[in-house]
Amino acid sequence: MRVLLVGGGGREHALALGLVADPSVEALVAVPGNPGIAAVAEVRDVNATDPAAVAALAVEVAADLVVIGPEAPLVAGVADAVRAKGIAAFGPSAEAARLEGSKTFAKDVMTAAGVPTARAYTCTDAASVGKALDEFGAPYVVKNDGLAAGKGVVVTDDRAAAVRHAEECGRVVIEEYLAGPEVSLFVVTDGEAAVPLLPAQDFKRVGDGDTGPNTGGMGAYTPLPWAPPGLVDEVMRDVVHPTLAELRRRGTPFAGLLYVGLAITAAGPRVIEFNARFGDPETQVVLALLETPLGGLLHAAATGTLAAHPPLRWRDGAAVTVVVAAEGYPAAPRTGDVITGADRAGVIHAGTRRDADGSLRSAGGRVLCGTATGPDLAAARDAAYEVVRGIGLAGSHHRSDIAAAAVHGQIDLPG
Ligand code: AMP
Repeated sequence: MRVLLVGGGGREHALALGLVADPSVEALVAVPGNPGIAAVAEVRDVNATDPAAVAALAVEVAADLVVIGPEAPLVAGVADAVRAKGIAAFGPSAEAARLEGSKTFAKDVMTAAGVPTARAYTCTDAASVGKALDEFGAPYVVKNDGLAAGKGVVVTDDRAAAVRHAEECGRVVIEEYLAGPEVSLFVVTDGEAAVPLLPAQDFKRVGDGDTGPNTGGMGAYTPLPWAPPGLVDEVMRDVVHPTLAELRRRGTPFAGLLYVGLAITAAGPRVIEFNARFGDPETQVVLALLETPLGGLLHAAATGTLAAHPPLRWRDGAAVTVVVAAEGYPAAPRTGDVITGADRAGVIHAGTRRDADGSLRSAGGRVLCGTATGPDLAAARDAAYEVVRGIGLAGSHHRSDIAAAAVHGQIDLPG
């Protein structure tokens, strides 16, 4: 099978490594890719959010499968354009991707499907914003009602800051605060059959101890030693299948990766958000433990044959990834700094570029990830930080507490 991979971040580097390890994948082309992906695939410079351009490239490279990583191409309709050429695409239609692209749409689907989530209001003016904030009380949760690459949410005790964020966004969803540890569950689906991957946890805040602003994600680990037994089955029954059924009922079935972001509250799991694609950086750890060939799995989802796919196999042990971010990230990341040590095993490229002189330089906020597996979470964590210690990038920062609370048994479930 010939595969075209769309995207160029850490998630896509992890997907690329998974795809080339699949013996059924004979060729991998990536657009736009990154220097890490370029080591295992042919990279092409085409606008990844231009549906016609990506579809034409898929035809040109005779792709049997197009795997779409980021949300922007999905919302732009890249999956639709590829399918219109008769080529299988892993990723939802633009219409189904609104599950991620619009918080209001997602709430609407969840309400119709009876999915447990936070109560919420969509607000567009100061009066309704103030009313919603006061009804729910602090901590205030204010979400931009559009794509914001994981950075459009403010959770704060500061009412004035909540109001400010609402003003800046224009149209927001304000919702009740969900207290409890968070879980990311990835589900591969062809619209009807659905296969959960291992649950993971990511770290959204920039600083140790979950301090500072939200980011795209500063690290992740899997599996979750503290997860309640039966969690995945419960989420498949109460969240995933009802959501997929509601989208089928609307005539817009969701095929691709349904990312369920959950809070484990005293009242049980509650959906914080849906995403329409693999999460970054959880993908780096989940795929590190997946033993089942990735290309075959994604191809089955893209061709409506997932029900006939064999059960997934997982490696024993655990995986941890730690993001190395540029100076100034997330507010104002500095780019163009020279990177050293990036050719070691376990280094995943995210925001990197190769200059004409051959030097590797930072090109984004999240620059690299140190990823490792181990026989248990403690060993995987030590190994991931060992990878990070080998990376040189002036001014960079990373969290030092990724997976630490889980290793030390310090994650408490409420109730
Ligand atoms: P989202 O973009 O919806 O994933 O939100 C980003 C982050 O904000 C989540 O991962 C949570 O950490 C936090 N968050 C979002 N909604 C809530 C909520 N209702 N209660 C508590 N935290 C939330």
